[in-house]
Amino acid sequence: MKQLLFFILISYSIACPGQIDEAKSIIKELTASKMHGRGYVKKGDKIAAKYIKKQFEAIGLQRFEKSYYQKFSFPINTQPGALELRINNALLIPGVDYLIDPSSPSIKGTYNTTILTPKDLLNSELFFSKLNNSAGKILLVNCYNMKHLSKQETTSIREIIRYLKYSPEHPALATIVFNSEKLTWSGSTTQSQKASFTVSKQFDLEKIETISVRSKSDFEKKYTSQNCIGFIPGISNDSIVVVSAHYDHLGRMGSKTYFPGANDNASGIAMLLQTAKYFARPENKPKHMLVFMAFGAEEIGLLGSKYFTENPLFPLVKIKFLINLDLAGTGDKGIQVVNGSIFKPQFERLKEINKQHKLLPEVKTRGSACNSDHCYFYEKNIPCFFIYTLGGTRAYHDIYDQYKTLPLTEFTNYNKLIRLFIKQL
Ligand SMILES: [Zn+2]
Repeated sequence: MKQLLFFILISYSIACPGQIDEAKSIIKELTASKMHGRGYVKKGDKIAAKYIKKQFEAIGLQRFEKSYYQKFSFPINTQPGALELRINNALLIPGVDYLIDPSSPSIKGTYNTTILTPKDLLNSELFFSKLNNSAGKILLVNCYNMKHLSKQETTSIREIIRYLKYSPEHPALATIVFNSEKLTWSGSTTQSQKASFTVSKQFDLEKIETISVRSKSDFEKKYTSQNCIGFIPGISNDSIVVVSAHYDHLGRMGSKTYFPGANDNASGIAMLLQTAKYFARPENKPKHMLVFMAFGAEEIGLLGSKYFTENPLFPLVKIKFLINLDLAGTGDKGIQVVNGSIFKPQFERLKEINKQHKLLPEVKTRGSACNSDHCYFYEKNIPCFFIYTLGGTRAYHDIYDQYKTLPLTEFTNYNKLIRLFIKQL
């Protein structure tokens, strides 16, 4: 009995030496307002990269070049200034009631409006007569109730909305789309000619008289961001196992609202750092060289990982396997493995380890998908998985993806699964 108790105590101290608390403190730090949502307003990306660099140093990761940073540039459009949207003089709350399209240019003033209903959008005569009378006005597109429409009608409405938002060819000044969908933001590397907004708060559009709007946009042709890359030498360094995760997120929208990105992807960075810390201990020296890649600029088109695959720090063919971690913060419904059905032996091994050690409720497979930083590696024939957790939170690309509400349900078990999988590669 005594022996059993001792064994339990020892296993406990190996499995969880404050592991979850450490992960939490990393996620808390990365989602704090001083990181500005790890985007490009107030150089949030650089503050986050500096934090990761310090963690790499503390863990003792080695560098390929003088610095952990691999720099690259791209154009970026942001809304760093005061952001205001008033409907009939009532001030709406950014992030809660509405989003500005990330490609929007600056706009300021009070404007009259023209309403477009799905019926108007689907009838070209109605549509053009309304549109031709909308010079200098803001278009209000009523999309609250599209459920009764056919799939084809919905698709053409989406196309027309895209035209209204981004085409310089029609006379309207700006577009506001009203719908009941969850607000989901993104980023933009271009600046459109017209501002546009999505409002999720319910309004009777017929009763809207004026719209007052203020937003200051900033387009930078060449913004420099960075990947942060370090490694642990293996027992043999002929082949390489990569653990990757993006650290960037959507940043700030206006001067007061920011997107914390706790699940996306402070959680993945926390897991990457904890994995690095584990394998950096001499007793856990990895079989193969282990490279840790914290990518920048994922949210605006996988730009950091694309840059790395075009400018690799070592021959890509040396990569035996890459594990990309994105959205690691839930897991009550298990994990989904992108490329699981493509790299079958590796997937079977992952499943087997999970079963043996009774870690996650489910390890699900799916085919290829170019939806995170593994994509450009896969296109270059590098064997890889992109793994994300299932269940938990609905928050995604919105202001609710917060540290406070991120459950981290299976974080410890998931991390253990990744460690055991790496050991078997
Ligand atoms: Zn992500």
